[in-house]
Amino acid sequence: MNADVAPGLRTKNTSPTTFESRSPADGTLVGCCTVSTEQDVGSVVDTARRAFEAWSSLPVASRSRHLRQWRAEIWSRRAEFAELIHRETGKPLEDALLEVVLTLEHIAWNEKNAARLLQTRRVRPGLLLANSRARIDRVPLGVVGVIGPWNYPLYTANGAVSAALAAGNTVVLKPSEHTPGVAVLYAQAFAAANPGIQVGVLSVVTGFGDTGVALCESGVDKIAFTGSTATGTAVMERCARTLTPVVLECGGKDPVIVAADADIAAAARAVAWGAFTNAGQTCVGVERVYVDEAVAPAFTAELVRHARRAEPGMGRKATYGPMTMPAQIDVVRRHVDAALAAGGRALFGGPSSIGSAVIGPIVLTDVPENNDAIREETFGPTVTVTTVSNVDDAVRRANDHQYALGASVFSRRHGDAIARQLSCGQVTVNSVIAFAGMGSVPMGGLRASGFGRVHGEEGFYEFCRTRSRVEKRWLLPGFDLTTLKRRPWISPVLDRVLGLRHRS
Ligand code: NDP
Repeated sequence: MNADVAPGLRTKNTSPTTFESRSPADGTLVGCCTVSTEQDVGSVVDTARRAFEAWSSLPVASRSRHLRQWRAEIWSRRAEFAELIHRETGKPLEDALLEVVLTLEHIAWNEKNAARLLQTRRVRPGLLLANSRARIDRVPLGVVGVIGPWNYPLYTANGAVSAALAAGNTVVLKPSEHTPGVAVLYAQAFAAANPGIQVGVLSVVTGFGDTGVALCESGVDKIAFTGSTATGTAVMERCARTLTPVVLECGGKDPVIVAADADIAAAARAVAWGAFTNAGQTCVGVERVYVDEAVAPAFTAELVRHARRAEPGMGRKATYGPMTMPAQIDVVRRHVDAALAAGGRALFGGPSSIGSAVIGPIVLTDVPENNDAIREETFGPTVTVTTVSNVDDAVRRANDHQYALGASVFSRRHGDAIARQLSCGQVTVNSVIAFAGMGSVPMGGLRASGFGRVHGEEGFYEFCRTRSRVEKRWLLPGFDLTTLKRRPWISPVLDRVLGLRHRS
């Protein structure tokens, strides 16, 4: 891998006002970025605020056209995007390309659905004010701040960015310090695809946590955050000071339930991918499996077979790549050690799999339910498999957790019924993570996994506010409730009419 500098990134790192983006695979320099100060962030947000007037005043169809041009630009440069994602995160090239393609699908959904979702809706005014017309507008919020993570640097940020832009907001994006180049390229592609567009519709501020703090305090109209629960809590605390609303997509510890009637081969294949892809650094990745005792031996044997065939590494064609964030390696080691110390067994891999940035797949079993390896988010290529006596027990264990992001069920006949018992934001039956590829399906969590949604209608409406418009159309002679001096006959008439309506 060479040390070419990604477009848009500075070439030198001589001053403390810049920082380097380096490949987690081999440490080579990808580029240098500015550490945006509070003043820098304030000035970018001011520019975004000025751009808002023009962008939000465009007809929805024109905004969608700009998104479509952006989408075409990203598509035509997909190899460049995939290469940069590969270099900044370490993930294999094919996975990086998949991330680009999923991103495009979500832009397309927002672009195609914006006009419908922004339509003014008429609602019934109700009996008492039947002489009125009531309408509800959906209007953009203003400037939206998006704070993104490093694990899917393009896809994750885009969930909020493309919806916010399609709804008429302008956006300031703060990417993770580990993957700044991808965000810079993403914003550059927007500008390149829309040369006449006002500066400030989509901007990027790079830096560390302090830059994120500055964005939270900059007066933006909403913050959409994806990352750890601890940082999400800090973001919410900052935003609370100015009553800035937030949507938080935080960590997960997604369970999979494998019922006795599951297609075991399909379940093991899906679990292996869901647990190990992206080196387990997926918020909706599989971290715990509860398998019915009737099929547990067959399932674990099949899962181990998949783990054995995985070829993680630094290369562009590896099954999965290195840990993107070095500190994460210690978390994985701590969880594996804790599991084994508490009587758990490694069915595949173990502490020796955690030598370097590339961690081999690890399958743990017999881990006590109160162990860190089950209670905390690991965010590494590990999975715990717990044998249960029945599905009810599996559901109880799956739900008994601080995290509640996604979940999956494998069952030929009862998948839907089991899925309906799960307390989480989204659940897949006979597959894993599938919802993330669907533009129409909202995604988000509850409890420690956060709140609010990205994607789909709910995700779109996170970036709109409602403006209700109520208009008096005609006056019923003498019948006016909104006056200081009501006619004496109004109360008795109302009493009779409402009595007919409300009495049992
Ligand atoms: P963080 O939650 O620390 O970072 C997420 C984003 O928030 C980054 O852009 C980060 O910037 C920024 N940030 C950091 N501190 C602040 C702050 N005080 N105010 C505002 N923004 C801030 O995630 P990490 O990258 O440290 O990952 C740690 C853990 O988070 C992982 O182990 C994993 O468990 C979880 N995680 C979950 C993800 C998910 O998709 N749900 C995604 C990524 C991580 P910077 O990077 O510059 O510090």
